[in-house]
Amino acid sequence: MSQKGTINVAVENIFPLIKKFLYSDHEIFLRELISNATDATLKLQHLARIGEAKVELGEQQIEVKIDKEAKTLHIIDQGLGMTEDEVQKYINEVAFSGAEEFLEKYKDTAKDSGIIGHFGLGFYSAFMVADKVDIITKSFKDEPAVHWSCDGSPNYTIEPADKTDFGTEIVLHISDDELEFLEESRITELLNKYNKFMPVPIKFGMKTETLPKPDDAKEEDPAPTQEVDNIINNPNPAWTKQPADLEDQDYKNFYRELYPMQFEEPLFNIHLNVDYPFNLTGILYFPKMTQDLNVQKDRIQLYQNQVYVTDNVEGIVPEFLTMLRGVIDSPDIPLNVSRSYLQADGAVKKISSYITRKVADKLKSLFNEDRAAFEEKWNDIKIVIEYGMLSEEKFFEKADKFALYPTVNGSYYTWDELIEKIKPTQTDKDDKTVVLYTSNREAQHSYVNAASDKGYEVLLLDSPIVSHLMQKLESSKENVSFVRVDADHIDNLIKKDEDQISKLSDEEKESLQKTITDTISDASYTVQVEAMSSDSAPFIITQPEFMRRMKEMQATGGGGGMMGFGNMPDMYNLVVNANHDLIQEIFNSKSDEKKASLIKQSVDLAKLSQGLLKGEALTDFVKRSYDLIK
Ligand code: ADP
Ligand code: MG
Repeated sequence: MSQKGTINVAVENIFPLIKKFLYSDHEIFLRELISNATDATLKLQHLARIGEAKVELGEQQIEVKIDKEAKTLHIIDQGLGMTEDEVQKYINEVAFSGAEEFLEKYKDTAKDSGIIGHFGLGFYSAFMVADKVDIITKSFKDEPAVHWSCDGSPNYTIEPADKTDFGTEIVLHISDDELEFLEESRITELLNKYNKFMPVPIKFGMKTETLPKPDDAKEEDPAPTQEVDNIINNPNPAWTKQPADLEDQDYKNFYRELYPMQFEEPLFNIHLNVDYPFNLTGILYFPKMTQDLNVQKDRIQLYQNQVYVTDNVEGIVPEFLTMLRGVIDSPDIPLNVSRSYLQADGAVKKISSYITRKVADKLKSLFNEDRAAFEEKWNDIKIVIEYGMLSEEKFFEKADKFALYPTVNGSYYTWDELIEKIKPTQTDKDDKTVVLYTSNREAQHSYVNAASDKGYEVLLLDSPIVSHLMQKLESSKENVSFVRVDADHIDNLIKKDEDQISKLSDEEKESLQKTITDTISDASYTVQVEAMSSDSAPFIITQPEFMRRMKEMQATGGGGGMMGFGNMPDMYNLVVNANHDLIQEIFNSKSDEKKASLIKQSVDLAKLSQGLLKGEALTDFVKRSYDLIK
């Protein structure tokens, strides 16, 4: 007997609304329908296990089928099915009230997407792409099959069907402006995106499999083939297994599965597995990092019970770990809320700090177990660790024990080792321990050499955010200051170390200072005449550490309230070594002309070595140099 009904009149306009609001996310209908099919399958398995369903379960699968001629898309499951009463209840009442509630709540915000795809509008999302939807379903209970049909108006029909096996078939009559969903390639793409790791095998079409040749086959005989179901998913992905059951190669294989286009192997992985106080499983991978902070984000995929949700894990994974790759699966992450709510959510905060802790622990154990291997990886992972130390205090505390500070000579010190090493020799006038570093050993080559010659340790700190980290270390450690090898502080260190006797008197120094200042006549240079060792360079250009670092920090974001530094002119010190032979020669020259030309030429050399000589000045310098040689 066939009957008709009207779905709650209050939602008369729901279908046009669904179409309108969900426009950008039409494709999620398939994820929703396959999720329902999966739920139905797993529920029946459960009922069978506890003895409530007396059915023979074979290898249950879900089938997706396209019928191009009829313009229909079919999703067929072998799950628990529905009786007529259940269709009334779950489809006509419950599902609809869910859709209604959704529209009420999100009418205004719906357009700024994000939320919408995560809501799980459920069954009714089918009407985003279909003019008409049929449900043909038979419960596992001994009750007749039913056929429900609805054409997108609030009216539906329900009548007996002749289906004999339990399970449900959903038939979507695809509307004319959604014909892409009848294309095999489009459906394959969606199945790969949303359903690649769902727990029930999903069949889409057939494929040809090559069989081994029989023993008596001749060389020229073609290998036999057979047609088999094309299963598009892996129902048992690595993250759902126990770490103890997985080999290193299994993790690598899974990485390949996740990122088929990625040729580089991951450096190492972290298996996440908790069930209290929240549920979370997953595998995170450390890929080789480049210096670019932006391009590599958003590669972690978030799943909910093996259903793909998003690759935007902002708020769930701490910012600094969004550079990692892999999978997180948790039924406890609320998806139907905005991102700002997510960040305030207690459970989500716990998840985030759990992940931070796991990552820190893993790094610590890698460091402890094989320090040499850890040092080897340092360059590829440092950016994540440095970023983490800057942004998460808890991570800083842990990482302080294993973060490495490489020197130009290829040693790697932990912070404590470094301080112990340099404290006796690298102390400035204010008794601060001076950590010397270079950010670019090519560009700062002569300074690195000068410092190394004095026996100082020079660190090689070249990641883009390292200036922020130095700032952080200076404020959290006692009595240390970071000084770049070409910064003005370095002469404090040199002078303290040497206590040189000056070859020029104070008045002579003053007059030389004036001559040089007048000759170079450039306001951004401050000239300083100092007595240094005669084998230090005659002219050294340095830049105030503070100012330069503020500018760097500004360039990489942050820098606190230091806005405005970007507009400041560059400032340099020109340190003149009074004890150097060349300076003696300049000072003793009788002709002013000779003096000026020696000063110009050698200051240009000093600039050249710092990469500061450019444009016209460089052209002039080269011309002058040729004149000198000829
Ligand atoms: P949700 O999945 O969040 O419960 P849906 O709108 O997706 O909401 O589905 C509503 C209800 O309809 C489900 O809870 C389930 O009871 C029923 N249902 C939907 N699809 C199927 C199916 N393939 N097999 C059995 N029951 C189904
Ligand atoms: Mg659902």
